[in-house]
Amino acid sequence: MSLLSGHIRHRLLLETEVLDAVLARFAPSTAEKFIQEVFWRGYFKGWLEHHPSVWTSYRDDVSGLLERLNADDELRQRYDQAVQSKTGIVCFDAWAHELVETGYLHNHTRMWFASIWIFTLQLPWQLGADFFYRHLIDGDPASNTLSWRWVGGLHTKGKTYLARPNNIEKFTKDRFAPHGQLAAHAPPLSEATAHSRQAIGRADTTLPGDTVALLLTEEDGRPEELFSDLQPIAGISLLATEGRSSLPIGERASAFALAAVSDATQRASRHFGIVVDAPVETDDWDAKLTAFAQANGVKSLVTAYAPVGPVAEKLAKAKDSLARHGISLFERRREYDELAWPHASRGFFALKKKIPAILEDLQRSVAPRLL
Ligand SMILES: Cc1cc2nc3c(=O)[nH]c(=O)nc-3n(C[C@H](O)[C@H](O)[C@H](O)COP(=O)(O)OP(=O)(O)OC[C@H]3O[C@@H](n4cnc5c(N)ncnc54)[C@H](O)[C@@H]3O)c2cc1C
Repeated sequence: MSLLSGHIRHRLLLETEVLDAVLARFAPSTAEKFIQEVFWRGYFKGWLEHHPSVWTSYRDDVSGLLERLNADDELRQRYDQAVQSKTGIVCFDAWAHELVETGYLHNHTRMWFASIWIFTLQLPWQLGADFFYRHLIDGDPASNTLSWRWVGGLHTKGKTYLARPNNIEKFTKDRFAPHGQLAAHAPPLSEATAHSRQAIGRADTTLPGDTVALLLTEEDGRPEELFSDLQPIAGISLLATEGRSSLPIGERASAFALAAVSDATQRASRHFGIVVDAPVETDDWDAKLTAFAQANGVKSLVTAYAPVGPVAEKLAKAKDSLARHGISLFERRREYDELAWPHASRGFFALKKKIPAILEDLQRSVAPRLL
């Protein structure tokens, strides 16, 4: 457990840097397990890029379920107990509290929590994923949604994760021992929608020729490297943290995302010697970006490619509106994503097999740029 996930999720720290640092100290065989863990994030992101309907149906399901909570008193009561640490299952209640207070849970704890939510409390997985996504400082559309689906048996079809009292007792060093309180079976969930696989859209490779300005988002906090070949004349930073859910976003998660983008804004400003507007949260990216581009006299905005999630949704909408004003929005994808995502359309194993080849490619193309 490195506790790096919030920083890696917002790309304050790049996967390539983590891999570089680890491989500088350890042989690939020694660090194999950790290297694979780092690749899990890219796997989930790439998988969701191949199956975007999983995200849209999750979002639709959450909306429908939040409406149902207003009409179904019994469901509302069970949901409130779960998110307010009042289920009576001591470990689960402690973890719900810890999540809200700290914005973080250990991976094993997340697995136990999701399993108890789904199989013991029999609550809809989508509401649990929404609870996590609102509070985790590393809240990530792909890792979160797909991990919840994995626990429920929807990601690896039919394979579920059952939280067992003995396992909890052992790994919490006797802090918790929920004997007789947890479901003994974890039958796989099912869903009506079949999610077909799609080809991943191409990222913009042509460089904007004329005067450009930067757009910074919570998807990538390292504009100095990503746009090192450009000379932007101004910058703007926008937040989409509220877009995680229609319910309130946890204080820790909001503060972390704001601090991440503020930090990127200050670094970009220093590095490029330009004014970068401080981050603001707004629903209307179209109007904000159009006004910014017009005020600075730019016809091209560049930003980091946003994988499936609220930022990508805002960008897609803004792109059309900007185009109507003759302004182009270029999305640049990182080499790491270009190399990993094509192998992330099925199970993790296919990507795992490619890790040595990807690391070699990265050493050739990315490492020299970072050093
Ligand atoms: C139900 C559930 C929901 C989750 N939701 C999220 C989420 O919203 N955002 C998120 O970043 N992670 C999520 N995870 C994955 C994982 O729990 C966290 O990434 C991990 O706990 C981060 O702690 P760490 O930095 O100490 O990880 P380490 O164990 O130190 O791993 C190093 C890095 O590898 C990556 N990594 C490791 N394990 C995973 C994994 N299983 N999936 C993806 N990346 C991984 C992370 O970038 C992490 O920082 C979820 C897991 C579960 C079971």
